[in-house]
Amino acid sequence: MDVISRREHRRSRRLLRQMDRAAGRRRRARGRQVLGGLVAVVLVVLAGAHLTGTDLVDLVRPRAYVEVDGRAVAVPRPVPAEGRLLPEVAVTTEGAHAFLHVDDEGNPVGYDPCRPVEYVVREDGAPRSGTALIEEAVSILSLASGLEIVDAGTTDEAPVMDRPLIQPERYGEAWAPVLIAWSDESELPELEGQVAGVGGSAAVPGADGRGRWLAAGRVALDAPDIEGLLARSGGHAEARAIVVHELAHVLGLDHVDDTTELMHPITSARTDLGPGDLQGLALLGQVECQP
Ligand SMILES: [Zn+2]
Repeated sequence: MDVISRREHRRSRRLLRQMDRAAGRRRRARGRQVLGGLVAVVLVVLAGAHLTGTDLVDLVRPRAYVEVDGRAVAVPRPVPAEGRLLPEVAVTTEGAHAFLHVDDEGNPVGYDPCRPVEYVVREDGAPRSGTALIEEAVSILSLASGLEIVDAGTTDEAPVMDRPLIQPERYGEAWAPVLIAWSDESELPELEGQVAGVGGSAAVPGADGRGRWLAAGRVALDAPDIEGLLARSGGHAEARAIVVHELAHVLGLDHVDDTTELMHPITSARTDLGPGDLQGLALLGQVECQP
C-alpha cells in the first residue's frame, strides 16, 4: 500500500463496495454461476492494490481528456513529486497585475510549482546574444515566481498558432515543454508590424479532471525586430525586457494599463519587472501542486 495514498485507498474500497453491491444484484438476478466471475474481478482489483499503485490508480481514478489535433487524449499524469522545487516567493510589492487564467474563485491558474517548467528553444535565426537573452529572462522569472524553469534543449518545432499540447513523437507522452522560438512575421502573422513577441500557455485540467494548471506554453520572438533593438545603445536590456514580458505571459500574467509595469502592452522605458509584475508572479508561483 505504500504507493497508494489514503484517499485512493478509500476510493478503491468504495469501488469494491459498489462492485459487491452489483454482484449482489446480479447474483439475485442470474444465480450463483455469475458470482464466480464477479468475485474474480474483485480479486484482480485487490491484487492490483498489492502489486503497484499505478495499476490500481488507473483502475479506479477518473481520467480527464483534452482534444489534441481533433483527437481526445488522456491528460498526462504528473511525475511523482515530493513538494515544491523552490521556496515560495513572498509578496513584498503591490501594483497593477492581471492573470490570463483564473479559477471559479478568481484565483490565478499557474504552472505546478512541484514540477519543473521545461523549455525548449528553436534557435534558427536567433540574434547573436539570443541564448543569453533567454537565459537571463528565465532566471529573472524563476527568481520572481519561485518556479524552477529548466532548459530542456533545442527543437525544430515551428511556432504555430494552434500548438498541439501533446506531441508524442517529439516530446513523449507528457505535456509539450514551453517552446521559445525565434521567428519573424513572414513565418508567423501574429508578429506583424511593431509586435516583437507573443507568448502564452494553455490552461489544462489535472489528470483526474480536478484543478487547472498551465502547460505547453509558447513564445515566438521577432528576430529582426529584436536584432534592431540590440543594435541600439542600451538595446540588450530592452530586448531582454521583451523576452521577460513574453515569458511572464507564459507563466500566466496578462497585460495591465499601468505604464509603470512591464506587463503594459506597449514597450515603455521600464526594462525590469515592476511592483505589480512581481506581485503577480509571486502569486502565480504559489498555486497548489497537482497531487
Ligand atoms: Zn504582451
